[in-house]
Amino acid sequence: MRAWSVTEPGPIDRNGAAPLRLVDKPTPTPGPGELLVRVRVCGVCRTDLHVTEGDLPVHRPGVTPGHEIVGEVAETGPSAEGFSIGDRVGVAWLHHTDGTCRHCRSGDENLCAASTYTGWDTDGGYAEYTTVPAAYAYRIPDGLDDVAAAPLLCAGIIGYRALKRARREPGTMPARLGLYGFGGSAHLCAQLAIALGSTVHVMTRGQQARDLALSLGAASAGDAYDEPPEPLDAAITFAPVGELVPVAMRALDRGGILSIAGIHLTDTPPLNYERELFYEKEIRSVTANTRADGREFLRLAARHGVRATTHTYPFDQADQALRDLKAGAFDGAAVLDLR
Ligand SMILES: [Zn+2]
Ligand SMILES: [Zn+2]
Repeated sequence: MRAWSVTEPGPIDRNGAAPLRLVDKPTPTPGPGELLVRVRVCGVCRTDLHVTEGDLPVHRPGVTPGHEIVGEVAETGPSAEGFSIGDRVGVAWLHHTDGTCRHCRSGDENLCAASTYTGWDTDGGYAEYTTVPAAYAYRIPDGLDDVAAAPLLCAGIIGYRALKRARREPGTMPARLGLYGFGGSAHLCAQLAIALGSTVHVMTRGQQARDLALSLGAASAGDAYDEPPEPLDAAITFAPVGELVPVAMRALDRGGILSIAGIHLTDTPPLNYERELFYEKEIRSVTANTRADGREFLRLAARHGVRATTHTYPFDQADQALRDLKAGAFDGAAVLDLR
């Protein structure tokens, strides 16, 4: 099969550099409990850029990135349950957990120290085929087409996890929510938060992104470091920029919560206790997601019409899609189309 491979991690936009190459690899064979998936589309996530550029350490030399996969089951491995050949299936970031540690047993499988990830520990969806443990594959709700569904599988699920982490109590929603950065994940999170009753303020660079935020129902849209028009009950930073942490903390009202989405963040500057932490403000990180988060989000997204703004790229332009993502050349989410 044809697959993209991270041959030598490094900057993707340096002249002459090609950290990601299109190569031939053997089509994988599904092991016990696994499905072989023929990839139809694969979303392009910022984490793929971090894997390609080496911001995330190499876990599997020559790995194939990609963890927003919509495909169809081509083959079922021994004792793989729940799916049949031809079923539409979603493959996301969380590839496997041990199921036995204290985190897994208490419902926090996202914190499992033995967890593995699609497109980092195992080959992902920038390829014609991939494999997934059947227990970690998702059913895609009818009514979501392949391209619309792909970005929901990481950008969407992580945005949802970040939103859950921004709540003071389970089941409640922050009345005034600030989103810092407005790419693939944030624009999905914003739609759901607005549908569930939050007033959303967006702070992001780029007029196009601000226009998109307003068109999706945001109450205001300012520049990246602007102060929102009212104090926030919660904020989520989507941009991987540590300098935004004190900015967002100052924007919080007393008792406010900052939830930091994303797997990578540049160093945060020192915080001023009085202005940025006191009054029981909280900073929370967000680490991957549980399968329950994923299933909840896909259900809510289908019910509330959460839709990604997508830009499709042909499969053989995956490297260009990553360069464009790095350059901020598009709003919303890029999707590789293998159909
Ligand atoms: Zn575990
Ligand atoms: Zn991702």
